[in-house]
Formats: sequence, C-alpha cells, structure tokens
Amino acid sequence: MRKLIVGNWKMNGSLAVNAELLAGIRQGLHKVQCDLGVCVPFPYLAQCQILLEGTSVVLGAQDVSSHAVGAYTGQVSTRMLLDFGCRFAIVGHSERREFCGETDEVVADKVQRALAGGLTPIVCVGETLENKEDGRTQEIVGRQIDAVLRVLEDAEIAGLVVAYEPVWAIGTGKTPTPEMAQEVHAMIRTQLVGRIGDAGKGVRILYGGSMKPSNAAGFLDMTDIDGGLIGGAALKAADFLAIASVASARN
Ligand code: PEP
Repeated sequence: MRKLIVGNWKMNGSLAVNAELLAGIRQGLHKVQCDLGVCVPFPYLAQCQILLEGTSVVLGAQDVSSHAVGAYTGQVSTRMLLDFGCRFAIVGHSERREFCGETDEVVADKVQRALAGGLTPIVCVGETLENKEDGRTQEIVGRQIDAVLRVLEDAEIAGLVVAYEPVWAIGTGKTPTPEMAQEVHAMIRTQLVGRIGDAGKGVRILYGGSMKPSNAAGFLDMTDIDGGLIGGAALKAADFLAIASVASARN
C-alpha cells in the first residue's frame, strides 16, 4: 500500500512562517514518492491552498463540524473545507477529545458527516498513559474504533484513514516500540476486516506520536503501519521531507 505522511500543524504558524515552511517542502518534493498532506489551521487554508497549487501535497483541516450548515457559531463545515480544496480532515484528535470534550459519539458523527460530504476523515484513536498502565490499550482503542464503525455503511468504512496515536506519545518524545504499535495496528486491521472483509486491508492506518526522521523507519517497516501523522516534526521542512523520504523508500 502506498504510504501516506500527513503533517498536523496544530495551532502553529503565521502567514510568514507558513510561506517559508511550504516553500521548503516544495523544494524537496521531487524526491517524494509517497502521498503527502498537511492539515493546517482554518484561517490559513486559503493561503496554503494557493501555495500548494500545482503540487501533489494534499490539503487538510484539523477538525470538521458534525453539522451540515446553520446556527453553529465557530464551527466549520465539510462544504466550507471543500471550497478551499481540502481533501482530509483530522477527526477526534486526542487534543480535541481532551480540551474540547469530544466523545466517541461526537467523533463518530463528525466522521459520518465528513464522509457524506466527500472529505476523507483521518480518525484518531489512542490510549492515555493511565489506560496503558492499566493494560487497557486494546480495549480503549477497540471501543473508539467500534464507535465509528457502528455509524458507517461498509462502503464508507473503506474510505477512512485511521491514525493510531498513543496519547502519551504525542509531543513527548516518548514512543511505543514499533512492535508495540504494530500490535495495536493489527488489532485495528482485524476490526476493519471483520466488518468489511478484504476491503479493510486497503484502509490506511497511520501511526502518530513523536515520529521523527530517526525513528520513522522502524514504524514504517511494520506490516500494518501505512504512514504517519506528524506533529512537531511537520513544522520543519527538512524533518518532514526526511520522514517522507523514509516512507517513499517503503512504498
Ligand atoms: C499529533 O499531534 O498528531 C502528533 C503526532 O504530534 P507529535 O508528532 O508532535 O507527537
């Protein structure tokens, strides 16, 4: 399966910083053979759409509303994201689950709405440190995945991207071993295949959590790790491109 590397800029950037970062990424694109995307803050979608025009880099957002249109102050709809050329939206990132109170049900609603509107949701799942220490990783991740699968038709499930992001690994410099991550990816794969059969083998499952150029190969060598969702390292063109080059070598 072709690897997918997606940058999650989170709440970072400015017009000047984004321009420099994207110029740096553009310069190295000729060496990239994997799929590449950046999920940028809403206010910069228009800028990034223009700066990425004519490149293979796919634009995405970091969240999307579960509603189609109307009186939802502060929310951004799938249709609005499509207007700016978005193809992806991250849904259910742990920082939204933690700081914005997003439940499994809210995440499932958002995923359903995104798919119905023609956007690919990157559905984030992952256990907290406490969950991990209690030995509940598979239970928690399994439940988060189930909540999403329950509301979708089989054909929609085939259009998902999943990101396994252990919460304790995000922005901490700590990571599971590639083998530990693979175990969780394999469980997710089993859930997908259990529900939609062979089509589940084609759903990309990304690993996220302190992935950087020096550890990317270990993760991307694993059977069920089909790419990466990259936070901190996506803010430096050289690091982001270096991860993309590791992925490109494993396509
Ligand atoms: C993320 O927030 O999705 C993420 C993976 O962050 P980092 O790479 O900084 O751990």
